[in-house]
Amino acid sequence: MPKADSQLLAANQLPMIVAMQESASEEQIQQVIEHLVKMGFEVHRSTGVRQTVLGAVGARADFDIRELELLSGVDQVHRISAPYKLAGRSFRPEGTIVKLPNGVEIGGNKVVVMAGPCSVESREQLFAAAEQVANAGARVLRGGAFKPRSSPYSFQGLGEEAVKLLREAGDKFKLLVISEVMEISQIPVMAAYVDILQVGARNMQNFNLLRELGKVRKPVLLKRGIAATLEELLLSAEYIMAGGNYEVILCERGIRTFETYTRNTMDISAIPIIHKLSHLPMTADPSHGTGRRDKVAPMARAAVAAGCDALLIEVHHDADHALSDGAQSLYPEQFRKLMDELRIIAPAVGRTIA
Ligand code: PEP
Ligand code: MN
Repeated sequence: MPKADSQLLAANQLPMIVAMQESASEEQIQQVIEHLVKMGFEVHRSTGVRQTVLGAVGARADFDIRELELLSGVDQVHRISAPYKLAGRSFRPEGTIVKLPNGVEIGGNKVVVMAGPCSVESREQLFAAAEQVANAGARVLRGGAFKPRSSPYSFQGLGEEAVKLLREAGDKFKLLVISEVMEISQIPVMAAYVDILQVGARNMQNFNLLRELGKVRKPVLLKRGIAATLEELLLSAEYIMAGGNYEVILCERGIRTFETYTRNTMDISAIPIIHKLSHLPMTADPSHGTGRRDKVAPMARAAVAAGCDALLIEVHHDADHALSDGAQSLYPEQFRKLMDELRIIAPAVGRTIA
């Protein structure tokens, strides 16, 4: 059996522990064992002085553990393996390095900086930003072509025209290109022009889109949803990987909390947590993570110190007149200064800036 198939089969296994109540009768224990066997589990019984514990191996991952918790005599039920397998660290303990054109690698020793405007607004705007971020040392140009805006009356992006401009600007300034794909119908044109397909926070659980991206052979940068747990983020990555596309890069971009000072709360701890749970590279987006340009640099510095593999940063040549996310877009000189700071911080944690 090919390795991926046997891993997928293993992904469908759900080892778990069923701890019976101290007061559980032998009859109740037998009923639980019978129930587990009927569900397809192999059961290993451990009878302690006070409590019986059942180890169950072999059913499918879509099994709902609450069914067991409701059986009489059951105290607790715990899954002892993660519900994602291909995205889990044990699938590739050495870590994944996503290899891009021009020798750019995400997940290796070098931290890759992706920067550019929130949206592509015009050729002049995009080329000005591209030149400035390239000169400062970014390796990837960002820019939204199809924009997921909270209001239908806000600028929605230039669409296909923007994707082509991104490619042109990227080629001119030796930058790779990343842009967001919002729906399945946009995949062909995006895949033809960009190097990395971005899935936005609002689409993290658009499972139809994720499945289609599993069929594409281009890296996908998957952003964490605004109210998504890290387990949910990894399960979304699993959708893409289950289709055969293993080139997935994750991204923390801030989550919604009760704090209102910042647009979102940048969860820096997501970086080391993802590195423990998963082999996939982890990006930090301090622009959406804070929503304020005065807080972007400190969070970018913290993200590099915390071990991120890449940064995604909004930079606009004329941020005060940006058509989207101007308040969180760095002025070019702020970006240059930040890059200089990151070149000092990265070596302290065994990295360099690509
Ligand atoms: C973006 O990067 O342009 C974007 C819309 O980000 P998010 O999906 O994180 O809101
Ligand atoms: Mn934006």
